[in-house]
Amino acid sequence: MTTGSAVAAEAAQQDEFNPFEAMRLRFDVAATALGLEPGLRQVLSTPDRELTVAIPIERDSGALEVFKGYRVQHNTSRGPCKGGIRFAPDVNLNEVRALAAWMTWKCSIVNIPFGGAKGGVICDPRDMSRAELERLTRGYTLGIMDILGPDRDVPAPDMNTDENTMAWIMDTYSMHVRRTTTAIVTGKPISIGGSRGRREATGRGVMIACREALKKLGLRPEDTRVVVQGSGNVGGVGAMLMHREGYSIVSMSDMYGTLHNANGLDVPAVLAHLQEKRRLEGYGEADYLKNSEQLLLDCDVLVPAATENQITSANADKIRCKLVVEGANGPTTAAADSILEDRGIVVVPDILANAGGVTVSYFEWVQDRAGYFWTEEIVNSRLEQIMVSAFQDVDAAAEKHGASMRIGSYILAVDRVAQVYRLRSQHAS
Ligand code: NAD
Repeated sequence: MTTGSAVAAEAAQQDEFNPFEAMRLRFDVAATALGLEPGLRQVLSTPDRELTVAIPIERDSGALEVFKGYRVQHNTSRGPCKGGIRFAPDVNLNEVRALAAWMTWKCSIVNIPFGGAKGGVICDPRDMSRAELERLTRGYTLGIMDILGPDRDVPAPDMNTDENTMAWIMDTYSMHVRRTTTAIVTGKPISIGGSRGRREATGRGVMIACREALKKLGLRPEDTRVVVQGSGNVGGVGAMLMHREGYSIVSMSDMYGTLHNANGLDVPAVLAHLQEKRRLEGYGEADYLKNSEQLLLDCDVLVPAATENQITSANADKIRCKLVVEGANGPTTAAADSILEDRGIVVVPDILANAGGVTVSYFEWVQDRAGYFWTEEIVNSRLEQIMVSAFQDVDAAAEKHGASMRIGSYILAVDRVAQVYRLRSQHAS
């Protein structure tokens, strides 16, 4: 099956940077490979529900300001919706739609009983005090509360939201239903029903996916140079865990700039500097580059772990790595997929590589509902087991259809959701 050129031709005519179109292009290739019936094709590529809310909050100055928030539920065939909430100035409906659909596919790949959702609020958290962020979070929770619930839709952190945000959501929801409901969100502090290992889970999953891909390429971690874009929950933790496994992390970045040291960064020292100064700039033992230069650095593995649309038709032909492991959601455009594939660069796709986070979120939801909490060793070993078998399932689907891992991951995910949809609709009729 030649997936690359077909996707490239269509991508050129679409808006390359529209994440929902990027999702749909890959979905269409997978649906065609699976021979998916037209009706089901339409069902699975259309979000079930999209909610837009206005969130009025009082700023610290006393002024009233209205923010806009979204919650998109893509598909609930396999179970309640699951998906993060991001706070950022450039949040938009197409992005949230794409992220929701990717959650459906991701939960299907790791075979956990959830559908996909995503939420976002248009705001700049850097310009807001902690008290304002708390009021915004509580207002947003009230706005979307009618469609939330441990058996309906369970949010989690994403860009610029963290365990404090989750604690505020849990508290707001619990106040309104008049009982403590820990399973309403995941990614909470451990003391209020969070899971051990959740904070590190996405980075740990990225590390496991990278290790499995390296085995296929005949490379060893200790001989592998890695460039990591983004130093937050995914990139920072991923870099630290990979550093501990013996990889040489030659570059890390944040939204302001890039550190580069061809001999390898002292990742714990870099993260300590970041913690103290709130940015990487000023760390002494590395060159400081522009972010546009980072993705073109010579390395073996590139881990984009910041945001969407980073590897595009404009730079995919200049990237110098053997393997891309996608920590972020949607970091590679569909047009760039084809260029990387033609160049023989293997891509471990986002919906597999960063699925460690939702896997441990699932563990958190299970623990909250049982009221019984696991040790970190149990969490990590169950995560390891799920990530390795998901990697093997995606690899097998890709091989079976003669496709890239990207298209293989969609084939696996879409097929599993379609099977459940057919079972449930037969049952209902
Ligand atoms: P975060 O807010 O903790 O960190 C984001 C990091 O990226 C920060 O260091 C920021 O400075 C940096 N950044 C932003 N724009 C950049 C740019 N242009 N160049 C370089 N660095 C840049 O967010 P996160 O939770 O680490 O999420 C990162 C990505 O991973 C997002 O795409 C998110 O959807 C995805 N993801 C997160 C999780 C999770 O559990 N947190 C799970 C799956 C996927």
